[in-house]
Amino acid sequence: MSETENNTAYIPPVQLSENSRFQFKCHPGVPCFTQCCRGIDIMLTPYDVIRLKNRMGIPSEDFLALYTKPHLLETTDLPVITLKMMDDEQKSCPFVRKDGCIVYEDRPTTCRYYPLGVATLSYKEQQKDGFYIFINEPHCKGFEEKDQWTVSEWRKNQGVDIHDEINELWTDLIVRKKSIPKNVQLTEKTKKMFFTASYDMDGFRRFVFESSFLTLYDIDKTTLEEIRSDEIALLRFGFKWLKWLMFKEGDFRLIESSLSERQEKIKARQSDVS
Ligand code: SF4
Ligand code: SF4
Repeated sequence: MSETENNTAYIPPVQLSENSRFQFKCHPGVPCFTQCCRGIDIMLTPYDVIRLKNRMGIPSEDFLALYTKPHLLETTDLPVITLKMMDDEQKSCPFVRKDGCIVYEDRPTTCRYYPLGVATLSYKEQQKDGFYIFINEPHCKGFEEKDQWTVSEWRKNQGVDIHDEINELWTDLIVRKKSIPKNVQLTEKTKKMFFTASYDMDGFRRFVFESSFLTLYDIDKTTLEEIRSDEIALLRFGFKWLKWLMFKEGDFRLIESSLSERQEKIKARQSDVS
């Protein structure tokens, strides 16, 4: 986690790899317990939103409206979200209580990584694999505990390896967007779709099954059955759809008849104008 300007943390950008070792333990007995859950910016990943909205038992649009703040990700112009902190003096996370996190089993990726940070989305270097940093906050007493970890062991222990695996294609899209020249702009429509397919799973499901999408694109039956019943499959499908929209890569094929119909319509429009 990174702290806000009110409680600025020093984050040395020392690169750690999967095998880097560190000493750390967090438990209810530390004097700083839950301090790191206040005054922070927590960027949410697509899989975080699925876990949290299901935990709360609410649709994705309600979760987004109640618990998140939209931002444009620096250097990419892509819409992303952070967890909206409470309006109390310490700007507490809405899920923190005296005895800890009430959504612990479904806590976001950033919280699982702590005291490590993932530098992939924060620094300009395009090192996709194993680019981590320490979030070395002075109030954190966890470093005084004796447990030893490698970065890889910590990721597994915190279940963050699963989050990363599910979000992998999404992270790739952002890293790739960062690497292309700034003057190559995405349309507003594509940015809106990036937001929907990344965070608003219920909205994206409606887009796939209730708009003209399936009359335009040839999606095989097995994929359709899978994405209809499995939210993670729908999320992965959304990432592939974004890759197609943003970089024209992938195997989305327009249905022949809809293609000719479209061409006819364009021709008709052109002749109306001339
Ligand atoms: S030890 Fe660190 S991670 Fe654990 S509660 Fe304290 S500040 Fe948070
Ligand atoms: S989600 Fe849980 S672990 Fe993360 S900041 Fe909030 S209370 Fe802390």
